[in-house]
Amino acid sequence: MFEVVIGLEVHVQLNTETKLFCSCPTSFNDRPNVNTCPTCLALPGALPVLNKSVLEKSIMLGTAIGATVNRTSFFDRKSYFYPDSPTSYQITQLYTPVVEHGTLDIDFEDGSSKKIRINRAHIEADAGKNIHDGAISKVDLNRAGTPLLEIVSEPDMRSAEDAVLYVKKLHSIVRYLDISNANMQEGSFRVDVNVSIRPKGDEKLYTRVEIKNINSFRFIQQAIEVEVERQVNAWEDGVYEDEIYQETRLFDQVKQETRSMRGKEEAADYRYFPEPDLLKAVIPDAMFETFSKIPELPDEKKSRFITEFGMREYDAAVITADLETAHFFEIMLAEGITAKNAVTWLTVELQGRLKGGLNITTSPVSAKTMGTLVKRIEDKTISGKAAKQVLDHLIENDAEVDAVIEELGLKQMNDTGALEKIIDEIIANNEDKAEQYRGGKEKLLGFFVGQTMKASKGTANPQTVNEMLKAKLG
Ligand code: ADP
Ligand code: MG
Ligand code: ZN
Repeated sequence: MFEVVIGLEVHVQLNTETKLFCSCPTSFNDRPNVNTCPTCLALPGALPVLNKSVLEKSIMLGTAIGATVNRTSFFDRKSYFYPDSPTSYQITQLYTPVVEHGTLDIDFEDGSSKKIRINRAHIEADAGKNIHDGAISKVDLNRAGTPLLEIVSEPDMRSAEDAVLYVKKLHSIVRYLDISNANMQEGSFRVDVNVSIRPKGDEKLYTRVEIKNINSFRFIQQAIEVEVERQVNAWEDGVYEDEIYQETRLFDQVKQETRSMRGKEEAADYRYFPEPDLLKAVIPDAMFETFSKIPELPDEKKSRFITEFGMREYDAAVITADLETAHFFEIMLAEGITAKNAVTWLTVELQGRLKGGLNITTSPVSAKTMGTLVKRIEDKTISGKAAKQVLDHLIENDAEVDAVIEELGLKQMNDTGALEKIIDEIIANNEDKAEQYRGGKEKLLGFFVGQTMKASKGTANPQTVNEMLKAKLG
């Protein structure tokens, strides 16, 4: 039997206005190579100057994972030649990173949780992009020099599930802190997975294989599963020593396999040394004070929702998993509705209707409108059933809740006088059934409720109808 050992490196692109060491804008979807300057093009004589908001965001991340924030950190030069890097080296932090020794809790469905240690988070510069266009390759350096925070875990994960939970939690934290847009498809949150196996009970670490740049939670899961299978097969076939060596591999989503990125003999030699063009990075007291006061994190929000609103653990987890959903929920609540109804109408009714690439951030119905809609159920203006009709209408049309209720004629009949008249008439027309009911055939109440709802064209409040019928049939 084998145990799986996983450690993750996550590259988070920080959402600064300007690049790490120059004042070029960080918007890299512009025309290729417009957001460049002598520094990020590495022209001779140009010198880097550290963007201080990168330190500010590092303090926030460090605080969120309970880590040590080094008030003085240093930059190092990692040499490698690649066409999308004009410097032919990357400025990073090897020896003294800005953040060290943190932890992150992952939570399982059964309510248990596990601590994953984070070794470090260091600042580094991103590369540009190669664009392969048939036989021609082009280089766009708009992204070159964009700030990254690389967050490196200890090899504390033991399954693909652990790894996915860790990545989701880290993603959520980064979004809550608003230090990155963390868009995985666009490459603002890139995950490298290190995987090894070992016989159960063995304490030592075996050879790790690194799978680079996986861009979705599902692919992380799949990449780990197929790589573990490859290593286990090699072990069982007696070829582990020959086939499994420390290397970088790529995950092929179509073939569901990992593939070697380069040959053994091409292993990089980074020749790290202290970066001579930069001063040490110093965090002043005032900066630390300001940026270590971080906003409420997902776990804290979750606990608060549970105690404040008596929410179920599961509901609270769903609502707080991402910042946008949590905000949507809070705006709904501000309309003065119950948390229970807010959860249902947000997670079941609204999210169930968001199709075709729509999500909570692009929802055609705003949080305030959803809050008003639920409010109209709670104040008995409309029934829950009618509210679903209103919501269907709101998804398709930009309109106000009250106007839609009016337009569709869905207002509940709260005029008990009118309702009484309807009920009296129905009982009079169905004396035989009324007799049977009084004689003990209580199931017939449903018949009377149905008739009343029909006669009121669904606008009667079912609860009121029930109560009145019981009283009248006596
Ligand atoms: P590099 O930059 O060479 O990839 P790092 O030290 O930055 O090296 O990252 C190593 C990553 O691999 C860490 O996340 C660490 O937890 C993980 N790791 C180290 N050894 C193993 C192993 N035997 N199995 C799985 N993961 C490992
Ligand atoms: Mg690495
Ligand atoms: Zn520049």
